[in-house]
Amino acid sequence: MSDVSLLRKAQQACSDLHLLYVEDDRTLAEATAKTLSSFFKSITMAHDGKEGLETYQAGIFDIVLTDILMPHMDGKEMSRRIREINPEQSIIVMSAHEESSYLMELIEIGIYKFIQKPPNLDRLAECILSTATNINNAKMVAKLANETKQNLAESQELLRNIIDTVPVRIFWKDKDSKYLGCNKLFANDAGLHGQDELIGKTDFDLVWKDQAQGYVNDDKAVMTSGQEKISYEEMQTQANGNMIWLTTSKTPLLNQNSEIIGVLGTYVDITKQKETMAEIQKAKDDLGYQAEHDILTGLPNRTLYFDRLHQAIKKAPRSDTKVGVIFIDLDRFKEINDTLGHDIGDKVIQLLGERLCNSLRKVDTIARFGGDEFILLIEHIKDMKNITEILEKLMKSMETPIKVQEHSLYLTLSAGVSIYPDDGQSAEILIRNADTAMYRAKDDGRNTYHFYTKEMTMESFSHMVMSKNIRQALDNREFVVYYQPQIDGKTRKLLGMEALVRWISPTEGFISPADFIPVAEECGLIDKLGQYVFEEAASQIVQWYNKGLNPGHVSVNLSPIELQQENFIQLLQDKMQALNCDPSWLELEITEGYTMKNPEVAIQMLQGIKDLGIKLSMDDFGTGYSSLAYLKKLPIDKLKIDQAFVRELPENMHDIAIVESIISMAKSMKFSVIAEGVETLTQHDFLIEKGCHNIQGYFYAKPMPSNEMEEFIQTFDNK
Ligand code: C2E
Ligand code: CA
Ligand code: CA
Repeated sequence: MSDVSLLRKAQQACSDLHLLYVEDDRTLAEATAKTLSSFFKSITMAHDGKEGLETYQAGIFDIVLTDILMPHMDGKEMSRRIREINPEQSIIVMSAHEESSYLMELIEIGIYKFIQKPPNLDRLAECILSTATNINNAKMVAKLANETKQNLAESQELLRNIIDTVPVRIFWKDKDSKYLGCNKLFANDAGLHGQDELIGKTDFDLVWKDQAQGYVNDDKAVMTSGQEKISYEEMQTQANGNMIWLTTSKTPLLNQNSEIIGVLGTYVDITKQKETMAEIQKAKDDLGYQAEHDILTGLPNRTLYFDRLHQAIKKAPRSDTKVGVIFIDLDRFKEINDTLGHDIGDKVIQLLGERLCNSLRKVDTIARFGGDEFILLIEHIKDMKNITEILEKLMKSMETPIKVQEHSLYLTLSAGVSIYPDDGQSAEILIRNADTAMYRAKDDGRNTYHFYTKEMTMESFSHMVMSKNIRQALDNREFVVYYQPQIDGKTRKLLGMEALVRWISPTEGFISPADFIPVAEECGLIDKLGQYVFEEAASQIVQWYNKGLNPGHVSVNLSPIELQQENFIQLLQDKMQALNCDPSWLELEITEGYTMKNPEVAIQMLQGIKDLGIKLSMDDFGTGYSSLAYLKKLPIDKLKIDQAFVRELPENMHDIAIVESIISMAKSMKFSVIAEGVETLTQHDFLIEKGCHNIQGYFYAKPMPSNEMEEFIQTFDNK
């Protein structure tokens, strides 16, 4: 009786297996095959070793069951060959041999399973079961292994996806900085089609070869130190040629034994952030720039200048050099603004800025302080000659006219200099003192420069106080007009008088117009003061005429600045009308300087005055440089010989010559002529003898208040 459970087990175990059965005894073969057919999924038969081997090669068999003694090729040889093809192949030998030496040979080729021939079913089932169990176990293990492999492949795929999805570039390199792998984003940056293309390449092979050396150096540093390098910024050339900014981190790449086998890197493209940051920075810089620069000229402004001056003062003692502060003011800039307009004024300032810049060394600073004021900072002065040279250069740079539209403007500068440490220890004091010195240059007739001296401070202080006081004095009516007679020395008749303003201050006492007129001109109060004098003088003369007196004309001094008022002529007309003043009772005194500065404008303005019926007299004549030809063009009536030429008459030969030539010039041009500052009889008589009959001076009378003048008018002609 066969063991049923054993058979069932064997049938179960073999149900999926394929058998190759090799047996030359056909009867036995068929009988056995019949028995086994219920066990195996398939049974393939061969009838000798050669056929068995060929069949084996053509198919897939889980078990080979073979006889030993067969024609053409015996079972032993066939088994050996099969083993060569597949060392794992399960082979069961069915044989009548029992000799141990023979079995040993089979064992040597790895065959452990033997069945006695003819086979007993149980023994066959047992043998097949154990073989099948082994095969099935092996298959199970293989399947498991396969599944595990697949799982691994899946998890690798997942990792790959993650690596390719994170918005970070990832790459890893070996010890020679050769790429082992990267993610998609990285491959894109490198302009590669697939990640595999990268493998084996170095940075020198990629689009960013210009940066390769730096990258490789970083790799080396990370690998040799074993320390990661975290979040540092660097640049990278991309496939499209653009440069991008990266934040990179590199860390050593370790194997299972924690040995460094390469470097793992990641980076983020921060170009956008950088650009945004740069925009923010630029906005900040622009603000900073605007805070430190003058918009019109683009030059440093007051703030930046102070900053640089502070620095220069700090540095100077170390190099044992001096620092120069040069304060520059454009002469008569207001005139340009008023006559040509602010647009041209602005352009002039711009061009002036450029011109000043060009006559400086690169190391010097030029700043605009506003209006027409510029200030220079000259460092590293070893010799004061350096400063003088710069000043001369600046002054000379103004000899070429500044061209704006159709205008060629001849401009001049006044400059004041203060030196650190001689003239002050602080930036504030140095600038103030340079400013003071600049005012001195203005007082000296402009177009010049002055070095600061201690004495100036006192003067400028009173200058400052004075300008404040002039304002108050106008409000308080502290200005009084005095009158000085002008007499025909031959007929001893009163021709008229000159109006001369006086400042009688309740605190300071009498202040000379020679002191306060220039200040009033500087601080812009001369217009107001001039109008006041004109009104006083005109209403006074009207009053005297109305009283039936015969005062002649009143001659009022005009500052050149007053003449720059656009509506000046209109103002005169309005005032005369309001006061009911006959224009023939008036005369205006102008100076040569004014007419020479801008002849075209001057001639037009003077003609306007003359057209009102007011006479014009040229004051201080002889001190300027008017040419005869030029004088001819001016619509004036009278030349006034300056008292400087009268003072030393008749001793000074030079003065005699001048006075004589002025008189003959006036005669030839049909101007009348008057001499001022005549104090002595000799001077008086000399002038009359030379043909100048009109006399003004202490010889007849000093300037006097209106009440005294009224008496003078009433009595003089009657003497
Ligand atoms: P100026 O127009 O040349 O005036 C003549 C100056 O000589 C006056 O000085 C007068 O007082 C002085 N003087 C007159 N006769 C003699 C003399 O025989 N000997 C001497 N040594 N001096 C004599 P003052 O009044 O001090 O005026 C000085 C200057 O102030 C004037 O010079 C004029 O340029 C200016 N000034 C005076 N009043 C006015 C005014 O109302 N408006 C303007 N714009 N300037 C004025
Ligand atoms: Ca005068
Ligand atoms: Ca004069």
